[in-house]
Amino acid sequence: MKAVKIKNVLQTGAVNTPCSVQGWVRTFRANRFIALNDGSTIDNLQCVVDFERLEESLLKQITTSAALHLEGTLVESQGSGQKVELQVEKITLLGASDPEKYPIQPKKHSLEFLREKAHLRVRTTTFSSVMRVRSALAFAVHEFFQEEGFFYVNTPIITGSDAEGAGEMFHVSTLDPKNPPLTESGDIDYKSDFFGKETNLTVSGQLEAEAYALGLGDVYTFGPTFRAENSNTTRHLAEFWMIEPEMAFYDLNDNMDLAEKFITSVLKKVLSRCEKDLLFLEERFNNEEKSKPQLERSPMGLLEKIRFVVENDFKRVSYTEAYEILRNSKPNKKKKFQFPITEWGVDLQSEHERYLVEKHFNCPVILYDYPANIKAFYMRRNDDEKTVRAMDILFPGIGEIVGGSQREERLEVLEKRIEEMGIDKKELWWYLDLRRFGSVPHSGFGLGFERLVQFTTGMNNIRDVIPFPRTPQNASF
Ligand code: ATP
Ligand code: MN
Repeated sequence: MKAVKIKNVLQTGAVNTPCSVQGWVRTFRANRFIALNDGSTIDNLQCVVDFERLEESLLKQITTSAALHLEGTLVESQGSGQKVELQVEKITLLGASDPEKYPIQPKKHSLEFLREKAHLRVRTTTFSSVMRVRSALAFAVHEFFQEEGFFYVNTPIITGSDAEGAGEMFHVSTLDPKNPPLTESGDIDYKSDFFGKETNLTVSGQLEAEAYALGLGDVYTFGPTFRAENSNTTRHLAEFWMIEPEMAFYDLNDNMDLAEKFITSVLKKVLSRCEKDLLFLEERFNNEEKSKPQLERSPMGLLEKIRFVVENDFKRVSYTEAYEILRNSKPNKKKKFQFPITEWGVDLQSEHERYLVEKHFNCPVILYDYPANIKAFYMRRNDDEKTVRAMDILFPGIGEIVGGSQREERLEVLEKRIEEMGIDKKELWWYLDLRRFGSVPHSGFGLGFERLVQFTTGMNNIRDVIPFPRTPQNASF
């Protein structure tokens, strides 16, 4: 008999019909009750075996984490919660497992412990829920942009430009590190490297996405991005997934409108599609919060937090307004900030972002019109000559989730900026061409996918929302 997914059995399985399933044993109680999980849903299927009819040797192999194929008849469930359970008539052992050696016991393990077992942690309820939500979010992302008429473009992962301007890069090279060819002046001779030039892993697909927006109109990327920053935080990965829409004929306001609509749309979809996983994650989140000091606890539960974001407008505040709020804030006056807010133009640190979002406004905040000197070269200069049309979206518990801007479409202004910042103009020849041939106002943003998954699942550490995290000193698996 062909096996079906447990999710379907639980949703539509009818009493007195034959049924076959396959999955992994979560628990085996009283030599009689197998809780089987196949990953299709958070729920296990209760399967009842008649142990008197079983061979001793097979019985011994029904252990936590063993893989089984079960055939039998669906009967009305005696237990609570589920309509049906499987009365097992035939057991096939697909893969035995040694319960003594299997590292994940049916007890609560710490997330840190499970990170060391990243190849097996997806068999826990927490991680399978997180990964199902992650998948649903990714689908909703594509769905949103496709419905809005955007085209999905794939920008290169290996880049020959070192002017993406978003952070430290990883080198890509096939040269022998022990004995690289050298130029006459003693530098590494990248002319003899694979690409005939120095190359890196991309930190952003934005520049290439701009080229495509100025032809296809509205485009988005959704792919891996790499940053070699040594920032060991709960919000940074060395390899993460970024969604970067880029839109021709959009100004900064259009950009902010789209970003807000995008985030609320995907959250709404996941709320309705991942109800069971989110209810479980909410319980986990609430327990976690209980162990924090009162002042640091989230004032809302997980679902309430998501619904709040879906139902309320984001607060839009200029950098200058935010600066005034922070300068006059209690923690600033009482010198509680590690980085005091003293003069206009300082970059905002995560403590300042958190104050604005979690203490002052109590809702997601879009900060815009940042000082030019703390932002990238491609952002459109305002008439005040001091600020640029940048926007960051800040989320409770996460901090920055989106960074974006209206792009500088005026060739002379852009060239001047590139020179001021000491960037090699030759490298950007093709990017400047976009301003030479039919340049139009355009805008875009980057959303870190894992930060969105963090917000939606309530997981505190970004390492727990990607299957195999890459962070400083860690690329196991
Ligand atoms: P941060 O200030 O938080 O380090 P950033 O300003 O360097 O972020 P951007 O260059 O604006 O980030 O990138 C766009 C988005 O990508 C960010 O808003 C964030 O959601 C995400 N992001 C950036 N760096 C990382 C990282 N190291 N790991 C995971 N997500 C990241
Ligand atoms: Mn940013």
